[in-house]
Amino acid sequence: MKRADLITDEIKRWMVTGDLRPGQRLPNEAELQRLFGMSKGTVREALKALEVQGLVTLKTGPNGGARLTEVTFARTFQLLQNHFFFQAVDIDQIYAVRRMLEPEVAALAATSLSEQDLRDLEAELHDHAAEAGEVRGAADLDFHDRLAMACPNVLLRLQCQVLNEMLRRLVTLAAGSVELDEVGTLNHAAHEALLAAFRARDAERARAVMAAHMDEVFSQVRRLGGAYRQRLVLERDFEMRLRLANLPPV
Ligand SMILES: [Zn+2]
Repeated sequence: MKRADLITDEIKRWMVTGDLRPGQRLPNEAELQRLFGMSKGTVREALKALEVQGLVTLKTGPNGGARLTEVTFARTFQLLQNHFFFQAVDIDQIYAVRRMLEPEVAALAATSLSEQDLRDLEAELHDHAAEAGEVRGAADLDFHDRLAMACPNVLLRLQCQVLNEMLRRLVTLAAGSVELDEVGTLNHAAHEALLAAFRARDAERARAVMAAHMDEVFSQVRRLGGAYRQRLVLERDFEMRLRLANLPPV
């Protein structure tokens, strides 16, 4: 085992034993050198490795050092994209999994969305009603992202966010603005039906409406020549979207 790996493992052990929380600082470089009896270079290599894994942020300067951080969705998505980069992913697979997960997310949303969540979703749906084409396509995925983020099951949440992000960044449609408008109108109607089921706190209805919505979206995506474009998504792509959409960090 490399010497730097010994340090990263030990720091992770500190985190697991609960002594360290996000936002807390790690001991500074000199302190770490002393604690582990290792060179400055080895300590730096270890800190850099933790940074790449998304577990710490590093700052230089007098108030610098390593601070623990929760691994962001952007980082997690990047790692997953690295994993999938040499594998054959296609839209059939994406929709097969969405068809399984989204109805469950909708059923959970019917009971777990707060009144404020419902008002926000309604306001957003209303705001996007007049938009056309691509803008509304992005708004459609934002709606699904919001449902995922409200999901009390963190595993389900992550998987839905990953699928939404793949659709947002890696799936392209060979469609003109007329077709995109048509799809936007269908999506809008489906989202209104979902909101009505959420309002009624009817989990069964929400599940059924979402299942029908997924079937419909999939057939539209196929009709419009949807294709998965393999590329590596960079972390800065996320920052741009968050800025543009003014969404909370995911
Ligand atoms: Zn939708």
